[in-house]
Amino acid sequence: MQTDFLNLPAFRVIKVDESLHDYHVTSEPVAVQTACTSCGSENFGKWGSREQLVKDLPLHGKRVGISIDTKRYRCNDCGKTFFHSLPAVSQKRQMTERLVHWIGQQAMKRTFLSLAEETGVDEKTIRNIFRDYVSELTETVRFELPKWLGIDAIHLTQYRCVIANIENNTIIELLHDRNMETVIEYLSQLECKEKIQYVAMGMWWPYRDAVNRVIPKAIVVIDECHVVRMANDAVEKVRKNLRQSLTPKQCRALKHDRIVLQKRKSQLTDQESLMLSGWVENYPELGLAYRLKEDFFKIYDSQSSEEALARYAAWEISVTEEVRDAFLDLIKAWRQWQPYILAYFDHRITNVYTESLNSLIRVLDSLGRGYSFEALRAKLLFCEGAYKINQMRPAFEQRTPVFRPGLGRNMVGFTSLVGTSCYQDLIGDDSEESKNYGADIAILTRMIECGEI
Ligand SMILES: [Zn+2]
Repeated sequence: MQTDFLNLPAFRVIKVDESLHDYHVTSEPVAVQTACTSCGSENFGKWGSREQLVKDLPLHGKRVGISIDTKRYRCNDCGKTFFHSLPAVSQKRQMTERLVHWIGQQAMKRTFLSLAEETGVDEKTIRNIFRDYVSELTETVRFELPKWLGIDAIHLTQYRCVIANIENNTIIELLHDRNMETVIEYLSQLECKEKIQYVAMGMWWPYRDAVNRVIPKAIVVIDECHVVRMANDAVEKVRKNLRQSLTPKQCRALKHDRIVLQKRKSQLTDQESLMLSGWVENYPELGLAYRLKEDFFKIYDSQSSEEALARYAAWEISVTEEVRDAFLDLIKAWRQWQPYILAYFDHRITNVYTESLNSLIRVLDSLGRGYSFEALRAKLLFCEGAYKINQMRPAFEQRTPVFRPGLGRNMVGFTSLVGTSCYQDLIGDDSEESKNYGADIAILTRMIECGEI
């Protein structure tokens, strides 16, 4: 009867009992036992049996348990007893291998509780299966190392550290914290770490110290976005201070117009320009802060580090006493990180990476709360749908760097389409095996937004 009920060729179905929530399948292994599992001898005899209950994939919304009357034997040569081998059944757990694999995959996107309910496996076992699944992936999934590495913080209940492939706009690791020891440990275990030539990072000394220690030849670069963000913060500080001297109505208006103050002058619409001029003309300090912010952004129009340094020096002198406090953090950061900030002008990256990372951080905020760090890391790193994989030799065109006019002489744009890869890795590389460049940040963001992860 119903021989194909399980779709598990190694077992013969004897009968199926059905209840409201469960299928109880009685079955026996098809293959006969031919040798002792210890010594390989064919000389053995029966030695009783035991009833085993093996959980299997849920079917038609019901939990499935397979009952197997497993025979026991005793070897006449070595004297050991052993059970009939059960193919397709996990060695470690009382369930089929396919159920173990399915739970591992499902646990990437579903809660442990819902899986426990659906399969009849207890929640603790689900958690352990997931842990095993993730460590297996950590062992087997290898991401290609880029020439340009990114190290940034991401706040998920606490600061975590995102390691990125900037050329391919992918995530290749999420570290538990942003301590120097943690980053050192990660960098140290990398194979071919000498491949990394540039490391773009947030202004956090432990990153720099870790990179200097493990990959001392790599050039540390502070990305534009991390620096100019501080100029916007300064305007925000002046705006907040101003509130004390305003009526509640004016305060509300100023709060509403905050977005205008954060924009670049060239990006304002006519109406926004009007709003802006109202504020900056009536409140000189705000006007001053806004102008200084705009001037600071212009430093990034420089064509070389020398020009940037000269522009910065002139800018710093122009920061007058009235607003100096607001700009102090920026001035300090520039002084402390100057060589790395200036390195950006000689080794530029496009802002695709920082922009997409910021989008990911925004959506992660909502996702992050419900999951443990391990689960979140697994979701981001091992989400197969987000992998950027190169399986074929690229077309000739893809090997060519994309020079974008007007973006500075050393600026190289990297293609960010799925399936394409950074050209550097492919020059002179004749291998055709597939390479995994990590989880595409833009795809991850979209999948989280759509609730697919
Ligand atoms: Zn034996």
